[in-house]
Amino acid sequence: MAPNHRISRDQDLEQMQSLVDFTRARLGTEAQSPFGSSVVETETGRLVLRRLNAVRKENDPSSHAEVRTMRAACKRLKKPSLAGHTLYTTCEPCPMCMAMALWSGVDRVVFGATIADASKHCAQIYVSAKQLQQRSDMDCRVEGPVARASCVALFEDPRMVEAMSLWRKSRRMTSKQKPSKR
Ligand SMILES: [Zn+2]
Repeated sequence: MAPNHRISRDQDLEQMQSLVDFTRARLGTEAQSPFGSSVVETETGRLVLRRLNAVRKENDPSSHAEVRTMRAACKRLKKPSLAGHTLYTTCEPCPMCMAMALWSGVDRVVFGATIADASKHCAQIYVSAKQLQQRSDMDCRVEGPVARASCVALFEDPRMVEAMSLWRKSRRMTSKQKPSKR
């Protein structure tokens, strides 16, 4: 990224709105999730790719939207670095995703809803993306919330609220039904 290059708030809003549209379009499908993420070229705004959270679909607790997006983007770019790129995400990255963003060398992380917003709907880890960045050697700009209301609306969509309530129930049942090992 050129040192003096500045992304305007409007460009960030446009990128986030496009990501929200992508995420919202999948509500009511098997792939539905309020968590969507995209990797774009910082200078040109060109989209590399975007993904949704697929923890349940892939039975993988690390299949958060940001992890999946950064993994796929690195594979497509055929390098382990996302320098020169910006990570957009409908929700502030959790510590796992933010750590990966730092390791990937993205220039910027731009988020929509905050961890506090998401905590009203599902369990969260309360370390902010900015806190994690400040405790690292990496030079990554963390910006947000951007288009917060549109991102929060993804969590509040009735289809998502219902799905999340069922997931919470199934999680509780699974842990109750599991016999303890002796
Ligand atoms: Zn995460």
